[in-house]
This record gives sequence, structure tokens and C-alpha cells, in this order.
Amino acid sequence: MTALLEVEDLRVAYGKIEAVKGISFTVEAGQVVTLIGTNGAGKTTTLRTLSGLLKPSAGKISFDGKPLHGIPAHKIVALGLAHSPEGRHIFPRLTIVENLLLGAYLRDDKEGIDKDIQRAYELFPILGERRKQAAGTLSGGEQQMLAMGRALMSRPKLLMLDEPSMGLSPIMMQKIMQTISELKSQGTTILLVEQNAQAALSLADHGHVMEVGRIALSGTGQDLLHDESVRKAYLGED
Ligand code: ATP
Repeated sequence: MTALLEVEDLRVAYGKIEAVKGISFTVEAGQVVTLIGTNGAGKTTTLRTLSGLLKPSAGKISFDGKPLHGIPAHKIVALGLAHSPEGRHIFPRLTIVENLLLGAYLRDDKEGIDKDIQRAYELFPILGERRKQAAGTLSGGEQQMLAMGRALMSRPKLLMLDEPSMGLSPIMMQKIMQTISELKSQGTTILLVEQNAQAALSLADHGHVMEVGRIALSGTGQDLLHDESVRKAYLGED
């Protein structure tokens, strides 16, 4: 069986600076795969390239059996790849429900959309309670929930989450991670970029450690969680 996402020797450069230097990995349907690593390792660049927002300088990306080369970002969403970006990028003046509906802009099945809005409210009750409020009034963690809910509104085959725990309180972070686990148990396939290696590896089937544009180490989430070099470099142990 071929993987849902196959990335082969991917390279991405900003002008002369190569930020991603030939990485390969796969994501099987139903898995949670995480990319961890320090600031500037190339994780966000990788996700933005998969979404079609950046052009690779070399390598292959295949999604659901089709090459993504040269396909514009909106068509990539239509193929089933959704991206909840770093920094959330919600629309603060629009209401919560309007933000959610933007995630479904490629769909016209009103009934299905209504059902998925209800599902977002079940996953994140606060979004339902505040549905008519401007999204800018939400706290950082709640905005993160909205960004995830909005990405789910396209009914993606693969959900990419960039740093969902960034800037959140420990309690809110735990909540977000619990939701990711819940999505996983419902069968959602997730590619998770995180600086919080402990949380990400604890729930991931597979993980890849990125260091300056390369994958330095790969393994199951549990293997990496117990790997001595990972513990020292990313889990704050001496
Ligand atoms: P972070 O967690 O800080 O976002 P990251 O692993 O996601 O880190 P990237 O944001 O992908 O890393 O950045 C990889 C490298 O590319 C870094 O050296 C960064 O400075 C550089 N870079 C990122 N965006 C640009 C840009 N628009 N122009 C030039 N260089 C960039």
C-alpha cells in the first residue's frame, strides 16, 4: 500500500539560502506523524511547501497517489490537504462561525457543512458558545481551536498543524493535545509540527527530528521519546 503522503528528497530554498536540504518521509492514512526540532530547522518551510505556498527547488511530493508538483495551493486544499498555520491566521473581525465557514469555502454541501460545524462545536464547545462573537475576542488557545476547527471544515484527508501549542498556557496546551489525540482516535491523519517534543512524541506514531534542514533522526514516537540524544537536546534533560 502506498502512503497517503510521500515526500522524497525535498529541497526548498529562500533565494540562496536552502532551508530544507533533501528530506524524505511518509505519512500513512490514520497515522499521526510529527516533525520536531529547534527554531529554524525547516519545519514550517516543509509544511508551507506541502500546502503549495512555497515551491520546492527539488524533490517529489505525492499525496493520495498524485504528484503535487505545480499544483496551486487552493487545488491542494481541494485534494484533501488542510493546513492550520503557525500563528493561527484567523480573521479577528469575522465571527467564529464565519471563520469556520471560510474553511469550507470549496464545498457546497450545506447539510454536510452544518454537520461539520456541529462537530467543531462538539470538539471545542467554547466555539459553539461564542459562535456569533468576533474571533478576535478569543484567547490565544481558543483561537488555536478555531484555526484547527477551520482546517477540519474542508474534511481533509490530511490535517497539518503547525505549532498548535505555541504561546499557550500549560492547561490550554494539554487541552489542544487531548483534542489531537481525540482526532487521531477518530481516524484523522495528522502531520504535526511542534516545539513541544514531549507532547508531540507522546501521541505520534512516528517522529522525525529536524536539524538545520535535514532529518537527523527518525523513529516511532515512543522510541524517540526514550532516545538519549533526543531527551538531552529536546526534552531538557542533562
Ligand atoms: P520555527 O519553529 O522557528 O518556525 P522552523 O523549523 O519552522 O522554525 P522555518 O521557519 O521553516 O523553521 O525556517 C527554516 C530556515 O529558513 C530558517 O533559517 C529561517 O530563517 C529561514 N526562513 C524562513 N522563512 C524565510 C523567508 N521568508 N525568507 C528567508 N529565509 C527564511
